[in-house]
Amino acid sequence: MVDGDKSLVVQDETIIEVAKRNQQGTVPLYYNTRKAPKEPVTSDSRYRGLSTAFTGGNIGICSNNISKIKNSQEIRNPETKQEAMDCLRWLCMTNNLVIDFAKTLYKSTPPKEVKEIISKYTNRKLPAFFKYAKDKSDNQVEEINDCIVNRIFTLYDESKFKIKFADKRRFDYRILMSNPDIVINDNVLTTYKEATRYAKLKIGKEEICNAPVIGDIISTMQKLNYAQYEICDMLIKDMFKEHRVFKDSRCKDFFFRIYGDIVYENIVTNKPKYGLVCVDCGEPLVNNRGNRCRCPKCQKAYRTKYLAEAKRKSRAMSTSSTSKKSR
Ligand SMILES: [Zn+2]
Repeated sequence: MVDGDKSLVVQDETIIEVAKRNQQGTVPLYYNTRKAPKEPVTSDSRYRGLSTAFTGGNIGICSNNISKIKNSQEIRNPETKQEAMDCLRWLCMTNNLVIDFAKTLYKSTPPKEVKEIISKYTNRKLPAFFKYAKDKSDNQVEEINDCIVNRIFTLYDESKFKIKFADKRRFDYRILMSNPDIVINDNVLTTYKEATRYAKLKIGKEEICNAPVIGDIISTMQKLNYAQYEICDMLIKDMFKEHRVFKDSRCKDFFFRIYGDIVYENIVTNKPKYGLVCVDCGEPLVNNRGNRCRCPKCQKAYRTKYLAEAKRKSRAMSTSSTSKKSR
């Protein structure tokens, strides 16, 4: 997904063709607005201007309402399309007025009947794709419909993203740590919890946008009387073993952005120690060929068990097909 500003400069033939097609019959919006009365520029008037821009110039709500209409089923339905388009035009004007509010000090008030029509479209939740675009939860968004952006869902087979860890023994969280025996200091956990509680990452934006938020958390953690790798160890131990702070993926999101480099170093150092052991008995794998995960002894036992199971299944299958035939 791209920002509107970026989509204006793409050279993709298909996008240009679709843009042209969608422009047909579209004319510039015409409406009357107002000008603020003239007044001398003073510190007071500047302050008032800034303050008005902050309090009355928020286009977020209006833009989200426009998204609700653009992605509604009504705009795709020939009977309701006109009404939905009219709503879009009204809200587009409103949005423009809000943007200029600090300069014009003017916002229009829609007549009652217009207000009623608009609210029919806007008194609903956000389109389904906001779950991914703005990190909304399932109960903050509408059911998925087949509006254009929602159709991106169908391009990705969700099962491809689900990784099964059928054999969990292969992962030992201690591989991420520098000292697995570290004693957790409660103050470290509380500080991390507090520092991340209200912090919010911008999803889908360039990493640089999140730098100030991440920087604040780093500075807070640096004030603690521990080395960064020790803090990292304590957090990992909580994440995988004690779960006092790490209860949801939100905390982990910050963690890997802040301590990812230390964790990487630890993995590199620990790999020979933890990475190449038999998943069944834990013995180190020597002369490991073909990326095996079991030592020769356990591999033999595993294979015997596997073959016995396969035979049992095939016997069960043939019995059931015989019994079906006899019916
Ligand atoms: Zn083994």
